[in-house]
Amino acid sequence: MSRVLVIGCGGVASVAIHKICQVSDVFTDLCIASRTVSKCDVLAEELKGNTKTNITTAKVDADNTDEVIALINKFKPDVVLNVALPYQDLTIMDACLACKVPYVDTANYECEDTDNPEWRKVYEERCKRLGFTAYFDYSWQWAYREKYKEAGITGLLGTGFDPGVTSVFTAYAQKHYFDEIHTIDILDCNGGDHGYPFATNFNPEINLREVSAPGSYWEDGHWVEIPPMSIKREYDFEGVGMKDMYLLHHEEIEALAANIPHVKRIRFFMTFGQSYLTHMKCLENVGMLRTDSVEFNGQQIVPIQFLKALLPDPASLGPRTVGKTNIGCIFTGIKDGKERKIYIYNVCDHQECYREVGSQAISYTTGVPAMIGTMLVAKGIWNKPGVFTTDEFDPDPYMDALNKYGLPWKVDENPVLVD
Ligand code: NDP
Repeated sequence: MSRVLVIGCGGVASVAIHKICQVSDVFTDLCIASRTVSKCDVLAEELKGNTKTNITTAKVDADNTDEVIALINKFKPDVVLNVALPYQDLTIMDACLACKVPYVDTANYECEDTDNPEWRKVYEERCKRLGFTAYFDYSWQWAYREKYKEAGITGLLGTGFDPGVTSVFTAYAQKHYFDEIHTIDILDCNGGDHGYPFATNFNPEINLREVSAPGSYWEDGHWVEIPPMSIKREYDFEGVGMKDMYLLHHEEIEALAANIPHVKRIRFFMTFGQSYLTHMKCLENVGMLRTDSVEFNGQQIVPIQFLKALLPDPASLGPRTVGKTNIGCIFTGIKDGKERKIYIYNVCDHQECYREVGSQAISYTTGVPAMIGTMLVAKGIWNKPGVFTTDEFDPDPYMDALNKYGLPWKVDENPVLVD
């Protein structure tokens, strides 16, 4: 019997909302709120009649904390799910704090305007102190820990697939398979083909900012940063086959490095085809990935935002994407004095996702865990005052829910390791 406010109505939100509507005994009332309310109305109309969840919609600019507070006071949710963009994390967290309502999201805070001098000062200090230069990190949201604790509300950060499920897999491996985890390799393989020469599977601006940045990994207590795409490996993924994958910086490394005792190395690899990389390099070389403003015909434009307007909307890729994803974590370590290695992973089929909820597997593998995290918070199963990542709770109910709600996982007890 919970009321949930979902902010954002893009590719990931659409899946999370479909899934929320499949669990009407938990989510009795849903408000879909976003900047463009017409998208919320279309989705609400599509779902009404197929669900017992009562659906309303609202327009909100989530960059404006007061607007979010007003909406929370009007709808009175038991939990807020932020599936807008990472740019809105702090304004929505502030609103939840003011109204004492639990907060859930899928990606850590990133500043939209990387020229902002106030943000830049903190960013440059952090680059020096921690040794990685990605635009996003947990410090901004971890700064709310005490405030959320005092307010008695839970803030659940990063409940997508990666981050999200990958950190739950880690907590599960720690609980059931290892006394000590020594290495973690997170592998994100998308074997899907959408037939376009170039498109991104989730928000292009966020995606391209992430993958064009220097890579980094955690080793022996510190970060090692490398030039973008400079570490490449090949891996044979079940359901997909042999793929090239590249080492990237990724946000869950930061949380796992802080929370998993004994861990010596954490790396993140994502698969990319040569055509994707060539397009990206070209766009970067001509300045289209720039995140600062440039003047064009008397107007200020941000090149990466203009590029987003040209690229296919990730939410539209569903009908044309075929193939599978395989995402998981390879762990090595010690159990009962013996060395052990396992791969915990999920294989997801793009077309099956499309048939169920009208979306491709990248939105699906993010939207389902977004619903699961929100459900566990709403039911009070994951309920701890403060701000936490998904590895900081009991993984078992989450792992059960993955099997039940469309992302079944497997454990390979003899995986091939990555060099
Ligand atoms: P989309 O661009 O498809 O959707 C974003 C939505 O947020 C749109 O509906 C947009 O509205 C809305 N929005 C943007 N700004 C505001 C604002 N100021 N106020 C209110 N609404 C706003 O993004 P995705 O669905 O692809 O991604 C959603 C989130 O999921 C992102 O944070 C992304 O980083 C995260 N993600 C996490 C993954 C994981 O595994 N953890 C994987 C993939 C994504 P409008 O329609 O007006 O543009």
